Amino acid sequence: MGKPHIVVVGAGAFGSWSAWFLLQSGARVTLVDGWGPGNSRASSGGETRIFRGGYGADQPYTRMARRALTLWQEHEERWSRKFLYRIGVLWMVGGEDSFERGSLRELKAEGLEHEELSLQELEKRWPQINFDGVAWGLYEINAGYLTARTSCQAVVEKFVAEGGEFQQLAISGEGIDSQRLDGLVLADGTKLVADQYVFACGPWLPKLFPETVGKKIRVTRQDVVFFGTPAHSNAFDETKLPVWADHGERFFYGIPGNQYRGFKVADDTRGPEFDPTAGERMASAESISKMRDYLAYRFPGMKDAPVLETRVCQYENTPDNNFILDRHPSRENVWIVGGGSGHGFKHGPAVGEMVAKAVLDDVQPEVRFRLGRLDNF
Ligand SMILES: Cc1cc2nc3c(=O)[nH]c(=O)nc-3n(C[C@H](O)[C@H](O)[C@H](O)COP(=O)(O)OP(=O)(O)OC[C@H]3O[C@@H](n4cnc5c(N)ncnc54)[C@H](O)[C@@H]3O)c2cc1C
Repeated sequence: MGKPHIVVVGAGAFGSWSAWFLLQSGARVTLVDGWGPGNSRASSGGETRIFRGGYGADQPYTRMARRALTLWQEHEERWSRKFLYRIGVLWMVGGEDSFERGSLRELKAEGLEHEELSLQELEKRWPQINFDGVAWGLYEINAGYLTARTSCQAVVEKFVAEGGEFQQLAISGEGIDSQRLDGLVLADGTKLVADQYVFACGPWLPKLFPETVGKKIRVTRQDVVFFGTPAHSNAFDETKLPVWADHGERFFYGIPGNQYRGFKVADDTRGPEFDPTAGERMASAESISKMRDYLAYRFPGMKDAPVLETRVCQYENTPDNNFILDRHPSRENVWIVGGGSGHGFKHGPAVGEMVAKAVLDDVQPEVRFRLGRLDNF
């Protein structure tokens, strides 16, 4: 028997790592992406993503983050590249703290190093932050941020160097959800025939699989703003501040000055519906003003900071925010991987490893990732 041939569509965080692990597991793999790994429309596009293990109680993601941490590190060493900047992640905890209490238990269970910090300790450690309304802090010591688009590109580069095939071509999705899949038609008219097909198409999954995914993934617009740090101080750079998550009435989060791009601020509140292909990516004046007000309040020394850059990305949300990793309900040789729901990037290598095991070794994916669960919403 020859090697099984697997086609992976989509070279974002989920698809690129899936292709890599399928190749490492002995398959012949063809990876295709219409606009390329970590492109500016993809959910994995942009500069950076947070790596954290805190996810509240009773969920699979702290365990997956633990595994992903090992895999990011192994690949950094293997490829002599740096992806993860371990500057720590600080959760600022207000009144209701069941999420962080649950996170504490899970972080402990997984051996992910962390500290519980009193308000006094927080104020002493980071005097640049106004801790108004914050009762205590959860500090994840080995967490931090990952480079986003460049790590997707690195995975694809290594995938190709080790024998994988990459084609920058879109597939026509016509009929893939309803007909027997005996090949994929590419934008140049050629046909790709394989034993199995993995669709890791992020926010495009609802359009490609209107019956199976359709409204089960809601694609929302998310604005991100980068502010300029002061000229004569590094108080707001990654050398002096950790990544932070402010779990108050609204969930703001950000990354201090890094990668020479400025201080990143984002709001986790789900925005309006967004078309990932045709949507214009100009941050709205309203969201810039909201981020600026927040910045001035929480980081007073950044009050007059200029906007350097903005980005518009999209979350592909499932109703329960759990990922999708499952076989198509009526196509034996089709797999659907996605539903990152605004937190998938860090898990890329762990998801890729799971995909390879599911596709090649028939290992059952996590129950919470099955498509069938979405029928209940
Ligand atoms: C603003 C923002 C902040 C985020 N912050 C974090 C964070 O801090 N931490 C974290 O872990 N996660 C975060 N996320 C979530 C994370 O980025 C996503 O969950 C993850 O990147 C999803 O990856 P994906 O591979 O599923 O999708 P994508 O990256 O969108 O990849 C899908 C790919 O499929 C390709 N494609 C689509 N259709 C076709 C076709 N017909 N033919 C060929 N190719 C096709 C596209 O070109 C694309 O490259 C954030 C997301 C956003 C938008």
